[in-house]
Order: sequence, then C-alpha cells, then structure tokens
Amino acid sequence: MRRSMERYTVPCTQCQAGQMHQHFITYFTWLGDELITVPDFPAWICDVCGHREYDPAALNQLSLILSPNAGRPVSRSRGIPHHRSDKKGQRASRP
Ligand SMILES: [Zn+2]
Repeated sequence: MRRSMERYTVPCTQCQAGQMHQHFITYFTWLGDELITVPDFPAWICDVCGHREYDPAALNQLSLILSPNAGRPVSRSRGIPHHRSDKKGQRASRP
C-alpha cells in the first residue's frame, strides 16, 4: 500500500539550501491576446528562498492543450465564464 500523495521534495536549484515542495497554484499564461488561468497547477516552491518552478510535465501537457494547432479553437464557442478584459482602457459598463 502506498500513500496517494507522497510528499516529494527536491533540492532547490536556486539557493541549494532549501527544499522545494509541491504546491498547487494558479498558473497564468498568455495565449495570443487572451490570459489563460489554470487553477491547481502543480509547481515546486522552495521553503527557503521562495523560488518556484512549474512542474515540467504539467507544462508540457498544458502546451499540448493550448497549442492552437493541436485541435479546434475552443475559446469563443464554449464560452468559459470569465469576464472579458481584452479591451484596452477597460471601462466598467455597469451604471
Ligand atoms: Zn531556494
């Protein structure tokens, strides 16, 4: 029997004194003009200097998902509930 979530740590590549622990954070990236946010994205964060690295395997998967040539564009038709902020000089349209 093994635990489902073993606590991995890796030595920090930045300060080499701390250990990097896995956390799930929100990943932000730009895809063209759209800001994509990915919640619960695995990343490694150093407990000493705070250096963070996104999980390379997850990044790789994400790049496959987000690649505009990998499949049909899903942005407009599916309508992710997300307020648009792609206008320059954004103004509130509420009264
Ligand atoms: Zn560190």
